[in-house]
Amino acid sequence: MPHETKIVSGVEVVPLCDAVGPMGTHIRKPLPEMFPGGTFEEGEEWILHFHCYLLRAAGRTILVDTGIGGTGSPAASWAPVPGRLPEELSAVGVAPEDVDLVVLTHLHSDHASGCVGGDGPAFPNARYAVQRADLDWVRGPMLDQVVAPIRDSLQILDGTTELLPGITAVHTPGHTPGHQTVEVGDLALSGDVVLHPVQLRDPSITYVYDDDPELAARSRTALLERVAVLATGHFPEPFTPTSAR
Ligand SMILES: [Zn+2]
Repeated sequence: MPHETKIVSGVEVVPLCDAVGPMGTHIRKPLPEMFPGGTFEEGEEWILHFHCYLLRAAGRTILVDTGIGGTGSPAASWAPVPGRLPEELSAVGVAPEDVDLVVLTHLHSDHASGCVGGDGPAFPNARYAVQRADLDWVRGPMLDQVVAPIRDSLQILDGTTELLPGITAVHTPGHTPGHQTVEVGDLALSGDVVLHPVQLRDPSITYVYDDDPELAARSRTALLERVAVLATGHFPEPFTPTSAR
């Protein structure tokens, strides 16, 4: 299927679908305030999409998030299927060597595991832009299997930073301490600031896997006031107007 792309302020934004699948029973309580009884109904599936985004601007190729990764990735224990980002990139004519910059919205296993391929960086010519607050926070397999192999290629950010003219990494903490969105004009590649469409109507609804739910809600409220379109990590459609609330 052709990818719906957008051009915003001269930047081409291409959604890439890393995976789609039902979440396991152990993660069926994502939004405690959302459903009567605080959970999904017996047998009801929560189908989650996993999106990464490619940006092309001024001859540069930028990848925002790298998805679930392959069969042995840290996300393999819970993600519905392995990620297919390499095939998605190939389908839009991008080889791993072509990527100049990878921006990781945060260091959760479904957003950053595709950084590595074999024993080293999956994108050999890229810098990997990550907030220092996430590097200070990350532990376990994400530290050992994902951050360690790309350590020499990191571009460590301390808060909101303009990455390229008109493309800004905005520190949006809460989901993780160093969560960041990538903002181009009135569009935000929003990572996991918003997990479910219900949070567009009520940004105060918290998510079980937010590191600091109150802070996440403040970041979410501010983001929804700041931009007109979200390119989310997990909604079924890659682009969602914030006016959908
Ligand atoms: Zn996520």
